[in-house]
Amino acid sequence: MNISILAVGTELLMGKTLNTNATELSKAINQLGHGVRYHLTIGDNPERLKQTLEFLLSVSDMVITTGGLGPTQDDLTKETIASVMDKKLVLDQKAHDMMLERFKSFNVKMTENNVIQSYLPENAIVMYNEKGTAPGFISENDGKYVAALPGPPREMRHMFEKSLKAFLKDKSQMAIVSEYINLFGIGESTAENKIDDIISEQTNPTIAIYANIGQVSLRVTASAENEEQAKELLEPTVQRIKDRLGDYIIGYGEKSIVDYTIEALMSHDLSLSLAESCTGGMIASEFVNFPGASNFFDRSYITYSNQAKEDMIGVSKTTLETYGAVSPETCREMVEGVYAQTGSDVCLAVTGIAGPSGGSEEKPVGLVYIGIKVKDQVTVKKYQFTGDRFVIRKRSLLSSMSMILNHIKSLY
Ligand code: AMP
Ligand code: MG
Repeated sequence: MNISILAVGTELLMGKTLNTNATELSKAINQLGHGVRYHLTIGDNPERLKQTLEFLLSVSDMVITTGGLGPTQDDLTKETIASVMDKKLVLDQKAHDMMLERFKSFNVKMTENNVIQSYLPENAIVMYNEKGTAPGFISENDGKYVAALPGPPREMRHMFEKSLKAFLKDKSQMAIVSEYINLFGIGESTAENKIDDIISEQTNPTIAIYANIGQVSLRVTASAENEEQAKELLEPTVQRIKDRLGDYIIGYGEKSIVDYTIEALMSHDLSLSLAESCTGGMIASEFVNFPGASNFFDRSYITYSNQAKEDMIGVSKTTLETYGAVSPETCREMVEGVYAQTGSDVCLAVTGIAGPSGGSEEKPVGLVYIGIKVKDQVTVKKYQFTGDRFVIRKRSLLSSMSMILNHIKSLY
């Protein structure tokens, strides 16, 4: 099917809310073997909603709307869809009872406004909402479909997974399967050169290369009548890539360098401590996002000022005055300091100039030193990053991950 996504909500047009629903839905729809025709966004305005729905239905087999299912005055998506699909709104008893239960469990009285939410287009497939109040639905007229999902991403996601996905799977004549091959220690262009004949020979599966700092990923995608056949199609190409790039493959699936770094630390039972200057806790936060972080993560010193570097991890005043805070000498003392305090198996320190000000000819914005100590061996590496403050800090974070992973791989 050709599917269009219509996001409804004035907040989206005001730039207050990022339309993440469209991105998420598109990804899922493509994976199910359907195509996405249009993404459109409109405000909470029934006239424009009607016009846009009519247009999208004229060029698509299905329109998926998100948002506008709430009980408030501006949420008129449902009424407008019903009128465009030429349906009456009728009470869905189950949706009503579920809502009543939900209000009861929160100890709140259900209002008339809320009751309106359980009126849905007649003969629709109802998608019950387990994460919120507003139910969704799939309405059909003349072979065309409109599916309405709630706006809040958490509710939208749950309803899609629980109800709409199966419907779309059923309507799909094609299955699309992807395998991700993650590489480490090789640049994007070198990787591409090694397999460019495979890439240009292939039409099904197709191969796409993605590069991130410290990590290159290949996505191999096959489409076939069913999942099993698509997987069979993938197999020989994945094997050819394995034969060529085997030494650089760190794993498969949608995983990031952070996942691999955590796996490496945990599988060797290594503890980790950090000192962060320009990243200001960013690296620690990335590790702590992982639910089992306490298995390996000890601490991070956020030593932003020179004084903090002296007080917390014993960097000498002379070093700071002679070489400056952003220097290999300071970085080395930072790592040694973290180790002296913690004795962690892996110690890492970052110091750099994130900008936009603070740079000089000798030490430009983006100059970052990352030091690591593993098995009594200290390595300090100089990086010259480009980009704005956030990008420089993010690159420092990813390069730190890459350094940790590299050292664990070579020393253990
Ligand atoms: P609604 O279903 O219209 O009441 O939407 C409720 C809330 O969901 C909005 O205030 C937004 O925070 C969020 N939301 C609505 N549409 C989107 C969207 N397309 N992407 C991400 N969040 C959204
Ligand atoms: Mg809204």
